[in-house]
Amino acid sequence: MIAKNTVVRVQIEDLTEQGEGIGRVDGYTLFVKDAVIGDRVEAKVVKAKKQYGYARLSRVLTPSPDRVSPRCPVAGPCGGCQLQAMNYESQLAFKRRKVENHLRRIGGLTVPVEPVIGMEDPWEYRNKAQVPVGRDREGRIVFGFYAGRSHRIVENPCCLLGPAASGPVLAAVKEYMEQFQVEPYDEESGKGTVRHVLIRQSHSTGQILVCLVIHADRLPAADRLTAKLREIPGMASVSLNINKKRNNVILGDRLVPLFGPAVLVDRIGSLSFEISPLSFFQVNPVQTRTLYETVRAFAGLTGGETVWDLYCGIGTISLFLAQRAKKVYGVEIVPEAVDDARENAKLNGIVNAEFFCGKAEEVLPEMYEKDGARADVIVVDPPRKGCGAGCLDAILKIHPAKVVYVSCDSATLSRDLKILCSKGYRLEKTSAFDMFPQTVHCESVSLLVPRFHLFNSLN
Ligand code: SAH
Repeated sequence: MIAKNTVVRVQIEDLTEQGEGIGRVDGYTLFVKDAVIGDRVEAKVVKAKKQYGYARLSRVLTPSPDRVSPRCPVAGPCGGCQLQAMNYESQLAFKRRKVENHLRRIGGLTVPVEPVIGMEDPWEYRNKAQVPVGRDREGRIVFGFYAGRSHRIVENPCCLLGPAASGPVLAAVKEYMEQFQVEPYDEESGKGTVRHVLIRQSHSTGQILVCLVIHADRLPAADRLTAKLREIPGMASVSLNINKKRNNVILGDRLVPLFGPAVLVDRIGSLSFEISPLSFFQVNPVQTRTLYETVRAFAGLTGGETVWDLYCGIGTISLFLAQRAKKVYGVEIVPEAVDDARENAKLNGIVNAEFFCGKAEEVLPEMYEKDGARADVIVVDPPRKGCGAGCLDAILKIHPAKVVYVSCDSATLSRDLKILCSKGYRLEKTSAFDMFPQTVHCESVSLLVPRFHLFNSLN
């Protein structure tokens, strides 16, 4: 053990999954945030446990060949980007290792992962920002991001990951709040009004949607806010979201439109999508297109297949696949997203897609037991926590010829694949995509096929 406050010199040999540098001093492991593999650094121990400790980077003695200077002035304190000090090529290599390690260690699977498909320009790729509002120590209204692992706001009104409209939108909201003395919401006391500003900007049309999440039933002088926001070119929709719960879930259930339709239209490939503020929509439209094309290629559709798309959001993957399948069924838990999915099918003239609102782990087993649902292909795209056990069970019972698993968390992916692979499936391939450059997150698509395909078809 190395005592707290000791200053050490350490060579960084590896990175944790959260992007912290790992080094060893006399066999004792230290985690050093903001350090890069290959750096030799000076760091001060801030927390010492028996087996390992945490140290704060005080200076880089010899920079790693992979080190670059972060573009963003608050890259260190802000919790959003963990990998800005690494060149892009090394970020991609890190993500590939992460997915491979998870598959091997958690899933017991040794399929090689292809090099991660990266972006030509890994900046300003996001179409959405959810920005918390608070006051700093001097009492100024600040917009920014939560510092890593905390709820302290680091001021950063113009994040380099986008969207471009964030700067002018936040300036207008701030001016309005100061002028009409509208208080930011304070998590600790439960007092105040404005919690978050949600901004969406369509990459294809430039249109902007703003939704203020408030801890109240109405907003004073809301028309003044709307008027200010409408001065920004491209402003298409302004709404309020009422969230009076005392938890850290960002959005409440109720939406109050103030100006324009409470949806934004965006395009992926040849399809248009209407997106409500409550619905999930992939944040990186450039990479989403590549991702969906891979899903479609892995699904190997010929036009005659029945496909289930579980965790379908606003039906993006469902509609992408419906163009090459006989029938697609989508399942999604958020009612607004299901409404959007049905509207989107109409908007694109697609008649062979049907959507159900409910939990994937309940709807699919029910449809199987009651209606004998069958599927040639099942696509799943669950949130970070992965698929529910009921969902995996139903997939195994329905036994489709292909399972395509889209994942934003390779640890839960590996846990789920282990189950599918111990009960008759084989992992054929995994491709990874960099949907979230500068951060540690990695998206992937895996194809599973029945292990005894030939045997089954002979019986
Ligand atoms: N496939 C979509 C959405 C993926 S995000 C796309 O590519 O855009 C995951 C989605 O799963 C979200 O829309 C979320 O609301 C939904 N979801 C979360 N838990 C669910 C559950 N138990 N059953 C069905 N949908 C769920």
